[in-house]
Amino acid sequence: MTGLAGKVALVTGASRGIGRAIAGRLAADGALVAVHYGSNEQAAKETVGAIEAEGGRAFAVPAELGVDGDVDTLVAGLTEGLTEHTGAARFDILVNNAATVSFSPLDALTEDEFDRIFAINTKAPLFLVKRTLPMLRDGGRIITISTLATRTAPPAVGYVMSKGAIDVMSRTLAVELGGRGITVNAVAPGVVLTDVFAALREDPKAQAALAGSAALGRVGRPDDIADAVAILASEEARWITGQVIDVTGGLSLR
Ligand code: NDP
Repeated sequence: MTGLAGKVALVTGASRGIGRAIAGRLAADGALVAVHYGSNEQAAKETVGAIEAEGGRAFAVPAELGVDGDVDTLVAGLTEGLTEHTGAARFDILVNNAATVSFSPLDALTEDEFDRIFAINTKAPLFLVKRTLPMLRDGGRIITISTLATRTAPPAVGYVMSKGAIDVMSRTLAVELGGRGITVNAVAPGVVLTDVFAALREDPKAQAALAGSAALGRVGRPDDIADAVAILASEEARWITGQVIDVTGGLSLR
């Protein structure tokens, strides 16, 4: 597909998991992709290498999120990479995917952990939007990865709250940015087999049990989420904004 030919995308947390799949899909659709990562440079190189092997274009941008100056570091790397690859620090699609997944229930949750979860999952995406808005072209896309868990309420209160704020952010910014034709949406996966669920990935019995809870009868894969993001990133999704899109294979229906 070439629907994103001439477009430029930034995908945070694209070294592994869902972010890697999103970066690959957007590149396959023709976009130049900035592959952001935190600490795993080797994994980021593999994402870029896989894209280039398929004839796509990508470059890596390191920045640990949740620390002082995180967004400044990311924007500096993005600006450098965009200028080198396109001659201008402009882009079209921002995918806020990077997050820390914490399953602490209330009795195990400390204030430090809560602050760290919010710094990475909520504050960084918001201020990345704010800082990159001058670089984002009119008609652009902002897509943030949320979670089904904001509606199913598992015992992971800090993580779930951090993602609930993302849903609210997406609705609110959709109104603020609509005048520029920028759409703002969240994508809410259910359970996806990534490093977050490393144990589940190795446990076919547990996978079968979980599959039985989904209308579509299997556990989610990173490309399931990437395809939904690609639809929202496309021109055809220009009239969809302020939404939290359930991408769970119907895990929420039973
Ligand atoms: P992974 O743990 O597989 O990948 C996380 C990615 O985010 C990596 O690229 C990692 O970089 C980056 N990252 C994590 N913390 C930081 C940080 N502090 N600073 C910079 N980069 C960071 O996660 P998933 O692919 O499973 O999850 C992706 C998104 O999907 C997240 O927003 C998550 O909340 C959401 N989600 C996932 C579900 C699932 O079942 N997997 C379900 C619902 C939502 P590095 O490689 O350098 O560490």
